[in-house]
Amino acid sequence: RFSNALKSVARNGEIKNYIQNSQELYPLFMRAAKRFVSGETRLDAINKAKELIAKDYLISLEYIGENTTNADECHAAKEEFISLIHQLGANGIKSTISFDLSHIGMSVDRELALKNLKEMAQAAELYHLNLMISMEESEKTDRILDIYKEVASTYKNVGITLQVHLKRSLDDLNELLKYPGKIRIVKGAYQEPADLKIGRSEELNNRYLEFIRMGVEAEHPISIATHDEKLLEKVFEQGYLKHSNVELEMLDGVRSDLIKNAKNEGYKARVYVTYGTEWYLYLAHRIAEYPPNIYTAVSDIIAF
Ligand code: FAD
Repeated sequence: RFSNALKSVARNGEIKNYIQNSQELYPLFMRAAKRFVSGETRLDAINKAKELIAKDYLISLEYIGENTTNADECHAAKEEFISLIHQLGANGIKSTISFDLSHIGMSVDRELALKNLKEMAQAAELYHLNLMISMEESEKTDRILDIYKEVASTYKNVGITLQVHLKRSLDDLNELLKYPGKIRIVKGAYQEPADLKIGRSEELNNRYLEFIRMGVEAEHPISIATHDEKLLEKVFEQGYLKHSNVELEMLDGVRSDLIKNAKNEGYKARVYVTYGTEWYLYLAHRIAEYPPNIYTAVSDIIAF
């Protein structure tokens, strides 16, 4: 309930504008967001990416945004992604570009999202860059998978995220393994109706391992995207990360010790870096998914 309340507050335009326009509150919240977000501009993200690449990490970059209901704003978001792709290409940075389909048109209409996605995939192909579609609330799953499947055979550089916590996801995984794109396996960040999901539990972790096993057995490119130390111990034990098409991916600012260890062991370790003026929303997501982050946020705010 806390998570849902927090996300509703974060998505409330008036509250968001109030904080972002307040000379007192803005720098305080920004200080807390800084742990998870590289900054507001593309340059902030590219600088962070360069810093991490110099330490031998792979990178994903997201320009933060979701649920854009205005076609002009979807166009502007798509243009930002296209500029990001060209700038990465010009700098020789081999980053994956991550995004929500609801940021580039899906909340307006399917065709707009499809058109923007194809344009981004074509631009990314020029530089051999990959795109990765994030997975949103279960109410959107069918629409996201439908758009992904329409582009996936033509654009092999487009991948998709799958949430282990949704009961439907086993069927979805079997289907997605028929397409070439990388599958990013996550537990799932959204609160969902109890009958649709499996809560955080050993059962969920075993199911996560089963999804990995299926991906590895199919020799499919997969990203193991989790910060769960216990789950990762099993992943290491099973030797899954030794497969050439398997990588570990973590959000920048979350359990950096774990990804560093994996990288130092010689495994493929990808850090997910974000940027954009919507950092407030991203901060709320991180607190909602792991409420103790509220204490970290408060201590970041008061630490001078
Ligand atoms: P959990 O069981 O939630 O947490 C295990 C432990 O990890 C916690 O006890 C804590 O120690 C640590 N931890 C977890 N989260 C945090 C945090 N925010 N801050 C500090 N410590 C933390 N979800 C989606 O629904 N759609 C997506 O498209 C999506 N993309 C993602 C991409 C990447 C690269 C990653 C890493 C995650 C993504 N997620 C996405 C989020 C994911 O679904 C989970 O909500 C998130 O990873 C937390 O789950 P967990 O597997 O880390 O394990």
